[in-house]
Amino acid sequence: MLFDSECPVCDRRSAGGAVCARCEADLAPPPALASPRGLDACRAITAYEGRGRELVTRLKFQNRRGSLSFAAARLAALARSDAVDVVTWAPTSPGRRRRRGFDQAELLARSVGRSLGVPVVGCLIRVPGPPQTGRHRSERVGGPRFDARRGIAAASGRRIAVVDDVVTTGATLSSAAAVLRDAGADHVVGLVVARTPRPR
Ligand SMILES: [Zn+2]
Repeated sequence: MLFDSECPVCDRRSAGGAVCARCEADLAPPPALASPRGLDACRAITAYEGRGRELVTRLKFQNRRGSLSFAAARLAALARSDAVDVVTWAPTSPGRRRRRGFDQAELLARSVGRSLGVPVVGCLIRVPGPPQTGRHRSERVGGPRFDARRGIAAASGRRIAVVDDVVTTGATLSSAAAVLRDAGADHVVGLVVARTPRPR
């Protein structure tokens, strides 16, 4: 309730806690890049820069409902044409989840699933390894490893959306998609808040 009259991206006053018109206008469109390997499509709300970067930071480090509900509503709108019938997420590392007390990708996925009216199923476990942040881009290409959770049985023959906050190289989503395909997923769509533009 505390933040319900502030824009979740910039903290300026905003009716109902909606993203303000200024932030809305400042969210750069996502870069027009190919979908990461193994995905049928990859949909992003915005570019991972400026306000888009701030939006992601809010999701990660401050548990503000405004930013989460805004991002989830946008992602659900982007996914409508995909006719997904299961929503899952790319889990963050267990260490980060412990420190933050939540996994922003899971919270987003749960909210997106509610909006779309489809089940949200935990399909993936992140196999512990070094965190990606702070490592050079070229070192991230291998991506994290995921294993299947029992819930992955729900993937067989289905159209699945995998939710994550940011896509940079796409290696994380590609790793997730590979496990889902192995489990028989028919169609895999990445749904991300922000996508990193091609390096200039
Ligand atoms: Zn704002």
